[in-house]
Amino acid sequence: MTATRIEGKEVAGALKARVRDAAAQLKAAHGITVGLGVILVGEDPASQVYVRNKGIAAREAGLHAVEIKLPASASEAEVLAEVKKLNADPTVHGFLVQFPTPPQVRQTSVIDAIDPAKDVDGLTATNAGLLVSAREGLVSCTPAGALMMVKQARGADLAGLDAVVIGRSILVGRPMAQLLINESCTVTTAHSKTRDLPALCRRADILVAAIGKANFVRGDWVKPGATVIDVGINRIDAGEGKTRLVGDVAYAEAAEIAGAITPVPGGVGLMTVACLLRNAVIAACRQTNLPVPSGL
Ligand code: NAP
Repeated sequence: MTATRIEGKEVAGALKARVRDAAAQLKAAHGITVGLGVILVGEDPASQVYVRNKGIAAREAGLHAVEIKLPASASEAEVLAEVKKLNADPTVHGFLVQFPTPPQVRQTSVIDAIDPAKDVDGLTATNAGLLVSAREGLVSCTPAGALMMVKQARGADLAGLDAVVIGRSILVGRPMAQLLINESCTVTTAHSKTRDLPALCRRADILVAAIGKANFVRGDWVKPGATVIDVGINRIDAGEGKTRLVGDVAYAEAAEIAGAITPVPGGVGLMTVACLLRNAVIAACRQTNLPVPSGL
């Protein structure tokens, strides 16, 4: 079998178009310009690229993009002061702090300071708790995008399917598992202490890899016909002084066995930004007591 590629460009492009329409509708009907803020602390090159791309995507969707840059030497109190300003800024409906932050700025302190209503990364304890309670909140962007890709491949009804999520981070693994539970899948969360991971993976109708290890999941771990979602982004040596991006799944091997699979690059990564824009529009609607436009 050769798997269908689940193209991020296609799924994310369609979502971005829906976000653009919803943002335009909010502006035309209610005079609301959706605002999305990003706080970047330090000069980490990868983070700078992510922040720039988020700003570009926001402006393309018709959103008001606010970028706040602080030096790597910024204290935790200085970062928290910027978080408080955005919490209070009525023109910014959602914002995030780009992680990782420098060591003197604790991730948990920053997350705890963000107003859950504006927490477009879905990282606050309030939004994590709402997801666990299967109640309305803001869902972490990468898992939300990964779920959309699963549905693109398998349709909307995932009830009863066996899902294995490798990784238990607050950002990806845990919310991903929770989203799949909420879809009535039978979910196993694997991590570095899991025993016989290959055998576990072979039971999965849906296999999500969020590990951060290049080509870690091999083709013979994949159940025939499974939907494989590769969240990993790993930069490896490509020879001649060059590097290239690969996922956590050995793509060529897995594509021989899976029914559908996401590529890296060109897969889940594109969905993350689209879901961030979507969360900003959802946050704006809730803050202004307007219904979230259908199709989002
Ligand atoms: P993370 O916080 O480092 O978590 C990695 C998880 O993988 C941990 O739960 C860890 O287990 C588990 N793990 C590590 N080695 C393992 C092993 N040998 N067997 C089984 N599990 C193992 O990383 P993350 O933030 O979740 O990100 C995961 C990957 O996704 C990274 O490559 C990251 O760059 C990528 N990512 C992509 C996007 C996107 O937009 N596509 C967004 C976010 C992250 P323990 O908990 O036991 O340590």
